[in-house]
Amino acid sequence: MRDQTGRTIDYLRLSVTDLCNYRCRYCMPEEGVCKRAHQDILSVEEIEEISRAAVACGVKKIRLTGGEPLVRNGILEICRRLKAIPGLEELCLTTNGSLLPELARPLRETGVDRLNISLDALRPERFSDMTRRGKLEDVLSGIFAAQTAGFECLKLNIVLIGGFNDDEIPNFVKLTEAHPWEVRFIELMAMGPCACWDKSCFLPGSEVLRRCPDLRPIPGEGVARRYKRPGARGAVGLISPVSHDFCGECRRIRITADGKLKGCLHSREEIDLRGLHGWRLENAIRQGILQKPQRHHLAERPSDTPRNMNQIGG
Ligand code: SAM
Ligand code: SF4
Repeated sequence: MRDQTGRTIDYLRLSVTDLCNYRCRYCMPEEGVCKRAHQDILSVEEIEEISRAAVACGVKKIRLTGGEPLVRNGILEICRRLKAIPGLEELCLTTNGSLLPELARPLRETGVDRLNISLDALRPERFSDMTRRGKLEDVLSGIFAAQTAGFECLKLNIVLIGGFNDDEIPNFVKLTEAHPWEVRFIELMAMGPCACWDKSCFLPGSEVLRRCPDLRPIPGEGVARRYKRPGARGAVGLISPVSHDFCGECRRIRITADGKLKGCLHSREEIDLRGLHGWRLENAIRQGILQKPQRHHLAERPSDTPRNMNQIGG
C-alpha cells in the first residue's frame, strides 16, 4: 500500500517486548523498565492477528525486535506462526545476540530468514560498560552459533558513538576481510537517555569513510549505503538517519509491544490496535499508513517521541 506521499509501505517492525537483559546506556535507563502486566503486552495470538492484517494491507517483510526479542516468552511460537502467514516474504529479527548460543538453531528451524545482531564494541570491558551487564564473549559465540545454524548474510549493527567506539572503526571494518558479514554503522539518534548527550557523541556515518579511505562503494540495499574493502568477504553499511535521512524512501511502519502503530519512529502519533479485529483492524493499519509523517526532524532537534528505543523497537 502507498502512503499519502506515494511511498510504498511493505515493511513492519514489530516489537514483541520492551524488556531486555542488557541496559545499553544510549537505549535504556539503568534500572530497566517496570515489567508490565502480562495483559498489557500483545499476546502471541494478537501478534499473529495483527501481522496477518498487516500482510493483508501490503506488508511483505516483518522484523521482530524489542527490547530484546529473545527474552520474550513464546518467541519461537511467534516466529513459527508468522512464518506461516501466506504473502509474508521475509521474517527477520534484530537481537543483541546474547541468547543466540542456545536459540540460533531453534530460531532457524522456525524459518526465520535473517538476523541482525548488535555489537557496539570489540573490547570486552568496553562492551560490558556500554551494555551495563553484557559479556562480549556471549555475543561473539552467538554470532558464530547463528552462522553454524545456517543464517547467511549476517548483519552486525554498530551504533557509532564519538569518544566511545569510534577508535574501533578500523577493527570492525577488518572483520569483513575474513567473514562474510555486513558490518553496519548506525548514527546515534537523540532519543531517550542519549537525547541529552554531548554533541561530540553524535558522529556522521562519513566518519567511517574518513577513517577507512580504502572502502569502495558497492550497490546499496534498503536504507544502507554500502562499501567494500578490496578483497574482503563481507561488506560495510552506513545507516545515516541523521546526516542523510532516508525518509523519502522509508517503507516502514512500527508496532510497539503494547499494540500501538507508529508511522515513524520519531513521531508522537500512535494508533491503538488492541481490541480491533477483521476489517476494523485492517482499516486502522491503513489509516496509520496514510498518516505516516513525511519526515523526521532529527537533524534539527531530538526525537519527538516520548518513548525510549526499547519501547518502540529500533
Ligand atoms: N535488543 C535488540 C538489539 O539490541 O539489537 C533489538 C532492539 S534494539 C532497540 C534495536 C537496535 O536499535 C539496536 O541495534 C540498537 O543498537 C539500536 N538503537 C537503540 N537506541 C538507538 C539510538 N538512540 N540511536 C541509534 N540506534 C539505536
Ligand atoms: Fe537492550 Fe537492544 Fe536496547 Fe541494548 S539496544 S538495551 S540490547 S534493547
